[in-house]
Amino acid sequence: MDFKQYITIVENYPKEGIRFKDITTLMQDGAAYKAAIDEMAEFAKDKEVDLVVGPEARGFVVGCPIAYSLGTGFVPVRKAGKLPREVISVDYGLEYGKDSLTIHRDSIKKGQRVLIADDLLATGGTIEATIKMVEELGGIVVGIAFMIELDYLDGRQKLEGHDIFSLMTYK
Ligand code: AMP
Repeated sequence: MDFKQYITIVENYPKEGIRFKDITTLMQDGAAYKAAIDEMAEFAKDKEVDLVVGPEARGFVVGCPIAYSLGTGFVPVRKAGKLPREVISVDYGLEYGKDSLTIHRDSIKKGQRVLIADDLLATGGTIEATIKMVEELGGIVVGIAFMIELDYLDGRQKLEGHDIFSLMTYK
């Protein structure tokens, strides 16, 4: 399937110079959404995944159906202050300043095999921070699946050594 035809490119959103890749037009098409999730799950199906981990909010849209398809659990990564129980957190750099991401301390057991899923790989900062937390809890990252990769931002370099799948690549 040509998935790119379902992505809407929004110029200068959320600010000047950014070409925003809007996945909601893919999500609202049942056949395209299902085919996209099926392909991402296919990448992971022989990796003996125990858990899928996805950062809010679009990582849920992608990660939850993959987890359902694989028959695994799903673990959310959220911005500080959003998870109700004890968390570990990691700071990560944004274009201006920094932010922090959190995950429940008891969400991953040592040695569990983790697939990380998100909508889009840009600079790789979000997923680098997610990997750090998964590994701090003793999880093993066995793969990372994206719907979209922005090749020109070199996020892949930050995630070196990991098995990365992306459904669509923009040069
Ligand atoms: P990053 O940490 O730089 O890899 O990107 C973090 C998140 O920002 C991605 O998972 C997307 O949800 C969002 N994002 C960054 N750039 C874009 C873009 N050009 N279009 C749509 N979403 C984006």
